[in-house]
Amino acid sequence: MRIYDLIYSKKMGRALSGEEIAFWIQGVTEGSIPLEQSAALLMAICWRGMDARETLDLTLAMRDSGARMDLSPVPGLKVDKHSTGGVGDKTTLILGPIVAACGRASRLTCSMFSGRGLGHTGGTVDKLSSVPGLKLELSADAFRESLVRTGFANSAQTPDVCPADRKLYALRDVTATVESIPLITASIMSKKLAGGADALVLDVKCGEGAFMKTQADALALARSMVDVGKAHGMRMKALVTRMEEPLGWAIGNALEVQESIEILKGQHGDGELADMSFRLAAEMLVLGGAAASLGEALKRVHAVIADGSAFEAFRDFVAFNGGDVAVVDDPSRLPQAAHRIEIPAPRAGFVASMDSRSMGILAMEHGAGRRQLGDALDLGAGIRVGVRLGQAVRVGEPMLIVHTNRPQEVDVAAFRSTISLSDAPVTELPWLLEVVE
Ligand code: URA
Repeated sequence: MRIYDLIYSKKMGRALSGEEIAFWIQGVTEGSIPLEQSAALLMAICWRGMDARETLDLTLAMRDSGARMDLSPVPGLKVDKHSTGGVGDKTTLILGPIVAACGRASRLTCSMFSGRGLGHTGGTVDKLSSVPGLKLELSADAFRESLVRTGFANSAQTPDVCPADRKLYALRDVTATVESIPLITASIMSKKLAGGADALVLDVKCGEGAFMKTQADALALARSMVDVGKAHGMRMKALVTRMEEPLGWAIGNALEVQESIEILKGQHGDGELADMSFRLAAEMLVLGGAAASLGEALKRVHAVIADGSAFEAFRDFVAFNGGDVAVVDDPSRLPQAAHRIEIPAPRAGFVASMDSRSMGILAMEHGAGRRQLGDALDLGAGIRVGVRLGQAVRVGEPMLIVHTNRPQEVDVAAFRSTISLSDAPVTELPWLLEVVE
């Protein structure tokens, strides 16, 4: 078999066979296929697409390129959640402890592997590293023990899982071949299948800052991932959600942990972040068989927030992973930036749009994220977002507060331009666009 022939076939719009796909992925894993040939094939896939059978074969080949987690020794079902990424998205920190607290009676646990942030979105591993001592680097045995003891396990993805995806993702990143439904499906679902959970709830974002800009594309991506998961026996559900503004008030590592703790303690219970986290947690409970209906699941979610057991589950999780629980009890002990700079509204009006991608990039440039792998993080740096879409603001009212250790670098105009104001009232659209099962 020659990789040249695969490139030619796909360029001409033909479907690749399972053997051809396995040959390519094996060559990528071993490093025997030159990068330029993989890059050409990726571009051909972007233009010509892949049918459902090819997408399934690609996912399987990528899953089998490395190690797989065996969660069978852990009693009960294990449920996972994946979001395709959003600025200020800290739902994992909130729903993990909620599912742990609600799942106890039916032995449902929450099993997740998370990444570090790169570019304009943060990563759960980085966010949680702002709790002193907390390290999400669990061995397979420790991961299983975390599920048994705390009901929630979250670890950084190790390099031996889906090595083919690691190499192909790096190549896609520099060849403008990230935004492809079959390639995203195979990349995400290979890692999810290797992670060993029984059920998966997906949050597929749609909007300017997301991989999928239109609702139709986001829906197609959700359908593709749900179908691949189901074909492998995974219980699947996907929510397609709007990403038009940062999720919650916090962008930045320690600030996002603080906001998550506040929600677990029952504060801000009516905002979009709480709403979305509670809904995703409830979907996980239903999918994992711990609740008979969405209504019942939501009631239980609210109950574990109200009685403090979700917060307790977060404390247990932090303690298990070596974190200082005194910081969870008193989030003012989290890393703090030395300076706060307000970005005032230039005039009165209604918040018409928020460029969350640019906000994420600005926060990253102030140290909340990395420009490239290996950059050090400033855990206290970030942005407090003081307004929501559609909100009326007065002239001079602080719209954003920049938390920074580099106050001389704050470009007020750049921050201000991330929010546009209109004279007429703006109707806020619901965050949930579609449900796919
Ligand atoms: N996240 C992934 O892991 N892979 C993609 O292709 C896109 C988002």
